[in-house]
Amino acid sequence: MQRTLVELIAAKRDGLSLSPDEIGRIVSSFLAGELADYQMSALLMAIYFRGLGEAETVALTQAMLHSGTVIDLSAVPGAKIDKHSTGGVGDKVSLCLAPLVAACGVPVPMVSGRGLGHTGGTLDKLEAIPGFRTDLDVKDFARIVGDVGTCMIGQTSEIAPADKRIYALRDVTATVECIPLIVASILSKKLAEGIDGLVLDVKVGRGAFMKDLSRARELASALVRTGTGAGKKVVAVMTDMSAPLGHAVGNAIETREAIEILRGGGPKDLLECTLVLGAEMLVLGGKAKDAAAARATLLGAIQSGEALAVLRRMVAAQGGDARVVDDPSRLLLAPSTVVLADRAGFVTGIDALEIGLAAVAMGAGRTRVDQRIDPSIGISVDAVRGTRVAVGEPLARLYTNAPSPALEARVRAAFTVEEGREPPAPGPLVLGRVEA
Ligand code: URA
Repeated sequence: MQRTLVELIAAKRDGLSLSPDEIGRIVSSFLAGELADYQMSALLMAIYFRGLGEAETVALTQAMLHSGTVIDLSAVPGAKIDKHSTGGVGDKVSLCLAPLVAACGVPVPMVSGRGLGHTGGTLDKLEAIPGFRTDLDVKDFARIVGDVGTCMIGQTSEIAPADKRIYALRDVTATVECIPLIVASILSKKLAEGIDGLVLDVKVGRGAFMKDLSRARELASALVRTGTGAGKKVVAVMTDMSAPLGHAVGNAIETREAIEILRGGGPKDLLECTLVLGAEMLVLGGKAKDAAAARATLLGAIQSGEALAVLRRMVAAQGGDARVVDDPSRLLLAPSTVVLADRAGFVTGIDALEIGLAAVAMGAGRTRVDQRIDPSIGISVDAVRGTRVAVGEPLARLYTNAPSPALEARVRAAFTVEEGREPPAPGPLVLGRVEA
């Protein structure tokens, strides 16, 4: 006999398993208003404490995915591969990665998010480009992926609507930090893009959602298992987020830095992160036999200007001013103030969380979803880890219309400067990798 919705909540409360059909019924009843918000909240808390098994997580992902449209990209030839990052400070990788991978022949359909809390969001960075539209509908999205090789938009109301409603409840019921719920939330949105494969960048450290490597590995493994269980090729890479990635934190300033990567410049760590993830994408997309061959192809597309040309085409196709691609200084920044070192030594750490929070406080990010952000505001890290500074030398630059000694002190305090004869040994960017 079919269990009632209340019996299903009780079953999970008692640590029992739910069948895929039962999970499908829960999601459809919730969307139809037959399972009330308070009942869903109780179930979410039961899942928080009892967890979900592998088959249950796949079923929840599928139910949330099929609550909306799955974009049909079958008209676009080749394997479509996307990348998802769990979020960090200065993480502008998507902006340079998607055009780069597309330039190497792997189509990249990318549905992205906005910044919330101390982490930035790809949509906000793209919207720093005058005219750039991220609110395209699914038809235009599919057309641009076909014509240009990549397109980057925001979640539409057609994509995984169950995730939007469930996430809103999780946010106010202290049930966000639950691995199976995170997995279903991330994958339901990503699988709706009509992809064949996905590379996950699970960030680890002070500036990340996952603060330690063992939790990050747990999340990475669950994402890979569930994505594979849903029939996709999935690889996860765990990367360091103890310090900001690259030098730039903010919106226009990060977009500038991402463009610099495709112009053959940019910070080393940002280039390395882009190449590591891009190599995984080319291998999954069948365009390279291994990571070494993939890196050579990616570097070739930067050197030839082909990756920059794809970015130019994508910006134009999405209504943006493509002149920024050849002249990133067109992305305007607020006036700058320098933060100076008050002690001498080597920079041994830069607290990504503190830098992210300072950027939000300046107006580069938001603490509520409806807050407006100013794209011209940001922070540039001048003295990256390992730099020797003397008293009075610059640590960072603040781009703001409202500089203050308190803000400068806050950013200065995010830098650890220690005496020593030798610079600290650089830590690895890649902390682990998980495949099916
Ligand atoms: N990002 C998401 O999209 N969902 C989560 O649950 C957590 C992070």
